[in-house]
Amino acid sequence: LYNMVQDLKGNIRVYCRIRPAFNAETKNVIDYIGDDGSLVILDPSKPRKEGRKVFQFNHMFGPTATQDEVFKDTQPLIRSVMDGYNVCIFAYGQTGSGKTHTMSGPSEGSIKDVGINYLALEDLFEISSRRKDIINYDIHVQMVEIYNEQVRDLLIRSCASENGLSLPDATMHSVKSTADVLHLMKLGGVNRVVSSTAINNRSSRSHSVVTVHIHGKDISGNILRSCLHLVDLAGSERVDKSEVTGDRLKEAQYINKSLSCLGDVITALAQKNSHIPYRNSKLTHLLQDSLGGHAKTLMFAHVSPEGDSFGETVGTLKFAQRVSTV
Ligand code: ADP
Ligand code: MG
Repeated sequence: LYNMVQDLKGNIRVYCRIRPAFNAETKNVIDYIGDDGSLVILDPSKPRKEGRKVFQFNHMFGPTATQDEVFKDTQPLIRSVMDGYNVCIFAYGQTGSGKTHTMSGPSEGSIKDVGINYLALEDLFEISSRRKDIINYDIHVQMVEIYNEQVRDLLIRSCASENGLSLPDATMHSVKSTADVLHLMKLGGVNRVVSSTAINNRSSRSHSVVTVHIHGKDISGNILRSCLHLVDLAGSERVDKSEVTGDRLKEAQYINKSLSCLGDVITALAQKNSHIPYRNSKLTHLLQDSLGGHAKTLMFAHVSPEGDSFGETVGTLKFAQRVSTV
């Protein structure tokens, strides 16, 4: 049933979430948020009429939207994983726009205001227990980060290994309860922080991928396999080439390349192209089996309402509009 409803909407959808304004000093660029997924923003440097830009998404979440409201519109997609569909959920946007808030919540490993990662697993456990007489599900979790096109396991205690391992090599952790999930997310969060002290602010410069593997066996012995990828992407902000050099510049170039590859892949899928350029980045390569085919994709475009972020906000909304099929 989850899929019947979902299939009517196509396999790629884009939601936009605007975080609350923190700086009351700057102009707010949000003019209108429609129930139909429309958004109007205003360029703070121009007169009202000339500075209007209109966008259309599958759904809009304004600054007052709660974690539960956001989850409610994501839930049917997550539930389709239990019926054998592969699903990818991406959080896109500049650093500070609310990506980690949507996916993890305000603090990793804590129950307060938890995000999609936790709520999704809680829901999967619930469905699993509801169906226990007809299907026996096993749920495993992996957590990796991709930094400068290198994949690192976030769920091993030693973070020494810097050689590019691939997702199938990352450790798999059986989870049976939300307590198990919180424990792993805390560990993953700690391991991310460990590396950020070595390389300043690394967590916003890397993609974090939580992969949930579902294995189900029904009473007649039929096997079902699927996975859910929950991706907190690196910050999409453009860096000024005249201001950064060396490692910072290299980092920025890797991020630009992988985000534009992701955009190319989703756009090619939306246009039903015959060639999908999965191999152009580590991220799309890792997620290849879960992007396209019968798989379902959801992109959350995150923006800040402040006027001083206007340039990045337009960039994010254009990117999101490009990959959207509305
Ligand atoms: P990103 O991961 O995109 O860099 P964060 O998720 O860390 O951004 O958000 C930046 C700050 O804004 C954090 O302090 C976060 O708690 C807060 N924040 C983001 N989105 C919301 C929201 N919808 N409601 C309340 N606070 C938010
Ligand atoms: Mg973040």
